[in-house]
Amino acid sequence: MIKAIAGTKDILPEDISKWYLIENIVKKVMGSFNYKEIRTPVFEETRLFARGIGEATDIVSKEMYTFTDRSDTSVTLKPEMTAAVVRALIEHSLDRKQVLNKLFYISPMFRQERPQAGRYRQFHQFGAEALGSQSPQLDAEMIIMPYDIITSLGLKDVKVKINSLGVPESRENYKKILKEYLTPHFDKFSEESKKRFETNILRLFDSKAENDQQIMEDAPLLIEYLDDASLEHFEGVKQTLLDSGIPFEIDPKLVRGLDYYTHTTFEVISGSVGSQSALCGGGRYNLLVEQLGGKPTPGIGFAAGIERIILACENENSLNLPPESLDLYIVDINRDNSALAAKTALIFRRKGFTVEFDYTGRSVKAQMREANRSNAKFALMLGGDELERGETVLKNMETGDQQILKIDSLEEFTNLLKV
Ligand code: AMP
Repeated sequence: MIKAIAGTKDILPEDISKWYLIENIVKKVMGSFNYKEIRTPVFEETRLFARGIGEATDIVSKEMYTFTDRSDTSVTLKPEMTAAVVRALIEHSLDRKQVLNKLFYISPMFRQERPQAGRYRQFHQFGAEALGSQSPQLDAEMIIMPYDIITSLGLKDVKVKINSLGVPESRENYKKILKEYLTPHFDKFSEESKKRFETNILRLFDSKAENDQQIMEDAPLLIEYLDDASLEHFEGVKQTLLDSGIPFEIDPKLVRGLDYYTHTTFEVISGSVGSQSALCGGGRYNLLVEQLGGKPTPGIGFAAGIERIILACENENSLNLPPESLDLYIVDINRDNSALAAKTALIFRRKGFTVEFDYTGRSVKAQMREANRSNAKFALMLGGDELERGETVLKNMETGDQQILKIDSLEEFTNLLKV
């Protein structure tokens, strides 16, 4: 038997209502902040991500689904959205049409990571990118939106962590200081950290190895070396969050994996999903647009993982989804009237009701069982003496009340289903 590829998942009809719920909340919240949806292709030229995300990052160095297509172009399934949105902004000169572009997306992403609970190879993110302003209120907005979405799903065990990475000048200066501090400890680091020591020294703060963590415990922190303008920006972000009533903590070790961040970085963490606890991450990237060939344009964004949010909701039992139901089930009493059943169903379906009838020639008993199983609010009995008289019986499945209706004028009675 051929199975789905490891790390990919089917979303079955029994689970789809959770996805609809989240997607609708995302669209509503993002809409209220005036973000417009953008959809970009599933694959892009590999060099977009290599240049946009950074060669030294985990994503580019080991996780991308990259292949050469039949015209010898190296293409990559998108591992994240920011680089693709920035490409679209530049390609369509969106920044010439308006100063500030506020965009959101809901999209599958692809990373060849080791699959485990909450970590997949195809997963889905919703997120936003705002391009064209340095306002600290935008940084705060990027935290408020996912926080509001996540908490409106009923999740309680969530924490917001924020940090500032400042600007490249102070960061380069700090990296030298960090390197000097860590050099005497180099031999004690794990192999992974030894590599990162050269390629991406800030990531040493992310190491899960106990020994590494011990060394990093007393290491100097970037936040202590920020320039005044960066500190002022960070103050603005914190104040807006405080004013908005968003609980947050400052985590000076939150460096995040991507190269392109400047100033604010943040994560929303859940206490109820085990080791893959980040529900959402993001940050400011004031240099990326230029790096990808556009005009200097400040940007900020976030991305949240839908599978992980669903996992957290399931673990906290926070979703209150109404059970699936039908408005109407049409019972073909003599099992010889499926054409009439189809015609009758269409009358109600075209009025927006969810209607089903039997396509498989089942007995009346089995059809009634099906009507009950699918929580039908009403059943319409087609057949018998009534049908000969041009009538049909509408039964309220909850109260048992019955009403006789004229088959020829059902259109007039569709409102009866509105209860
Ligand atoms: P990142 O783009 O790495 O900052 O990730 C943003 C969010 O996407 C994370 O906080 C997760 O919720 C989600 N995410 C990232 N990688 C995966 C993955 N492999 N599987 C499932 N969700 C993921």
